[in-house]
Order: sequence, then C-alpha cells, then structure tokens
Amino acid sequence: MSSESTDSPGPAALVARREELAGNLGEVRARIDAACDAAGRARDAVDLIVVTKTYPASDVRLLAGLGVRDVGENRDQEAAPKADACKDLDLTWHYIGQLQTNKARSVAAYADVVHSVDRTRLVAALAAGAARRERELTCLIQVSLDGDAGRGGALAADVPALADAIAEAPRLRLGGLMAVAPLGAEPARAFEALAEMSTRLREAHPAATMVSAGMSNDLEQAVGAGATHVRVGTAVLGVRRLLR
Ligand SMILES: *Cc1c(COP(=O)(O)O)cnc(C)c1O
Repeated sequence: MSSESTDSPGPAALVARREELAGNLGEVRARIDAACDAAGRARDAVDLIVVTKTYPASDVRLLAGLGVRDVGENRDQEAAPKADACKDLDLTWHYIGQLQTNKARSVAAYADVVHSVDRTRLVAALAAGAARRERELTCLIQVSLDGDAGRGGALAADVPALADAIAEAPRLRLGGLMAVAPLGAEPARAFEALAEMSTRLREAHPAATMVSAGMSNDLEQAVGAGATHVRVGTAVLGVRRLLR
C-alpha cells in the first residue's frame, strides 16, 4: 500500500480524527442515554457496537482508545485483516453482514459474535470454524421483519429450529436475535415485532437475551423497543464513501 493509504494517516491527521470520533461518540452515547431514560431502562442496558466497515484499522485503534469495546464489520475480506491488525486491542468483534457458508470458517477465526446466522447450513460451518480455532462463538439469529428473505434473515417460522441447532452445536452459544428495520417501514413497529419474537425465543432458550437492533437513524426506536445492542456506523465514523 502507498504511504497515501488511509491505513497510515500522519500524526496531525490522527489527532484531528481522534477529536472528530470523540465528538461523534459523545453524541451517540448521549442519544442512547436519552433513549434509555425515555424508555425507563437502565443506561447500561444497551451496548454500543461501533460499525467500522469501510474505515481503516487506524480508526478502530482510535475508537479503542476512546473506550469503545465492541466493533462491527460486515465483509470477511475487509474484517479479517482489520481484526488481525488490531489483535493487540481488547475488543469484541461482531460480524453483522450477510454470511456465505464458505466464509464462515474465516469469520469464526476472529469474530466473537456473529449476528447474521439465518440458515442451518451456517451453523455447522461456524461450529467447524470455531472448533478448528478452539474458540467459542456467540450466534444471533438474524430475522427478516418483512418476510423478504432476499435481504437476509430467517423467517419467523424458521427461528425455533435454527435456535435449537445453534444451542446444540458445540462451541456455539445462542445469544439472541438481530434484525434490520425494513426499508420504508415504521422502525418502532418493526422493532416491537422483533421484541415479541425475542420473548418467544426466550421461552425455549432463556439465556438468549440479546436483541441487536437499531442503527444511526433508528437507534432511539430500537432502544425504546428493548434492544440490548445497537449497531452504529455513520453517526460515529461519518458517511461511508464506498457503497456496500
Ligand atoms: C452498516 C450496518 C450498520 C450501521 O449502519 P449506519 O446506518 O451506518 O449506522 C448496522 N447494521 C448492519 C447490519 C449494517 O450492515
């Protein structure tokens, strides 16, 4: 890579970027706190996952220095080298993107939490990857809130079997559910539907308490509906230049 690469910004650029990230993080944390207050929830009931996709490892490092403990990525090709470049940092890596079965082994090598388990074939692949690395993986079932599986996500009817498959797989822990609000839908209603699915899931799997929902534009609605994890990229790092 050339010295112009965004992976190696100079000291002045790093200071400016740190300032920018600190300001944005402060705003996002204030939004989460306010949403918790409004919902009558404890402020520590919601974890912030900063979605660093398309941004360099140097940003991840700055974020870690600003107290961020959870980062999210959505493409294995990008996430694997980034996680490796940051392996000295005390971070939890969340894989939030659609996952191809042939990438599952790679993801299992660095991800701590996989949010996008939406079919049974992935379960065996993730378990195999976790076994090879002697790691434990927390798996969330990504559910489709509009019944359009094309955008990723299991249909509600398929959740119980998928949950059992994860719970029974060695080295995999069923963490809970994840969803993205459908385009054009009212996010609050979508996240309430997700919360109802979470309640049903916990009847069979009481420890599966995680609800991953809410992004830069709808984190308030997600927190209001009971999300335990919000995934925020743009509001912390800025508008992504590359289309994903
Ligand atoms: C990119 C992404 C996010 C973050 O979205 P922002 O609007 O940038 O906050 C959250 N969840 C998933 C699944 C994503 O792919």
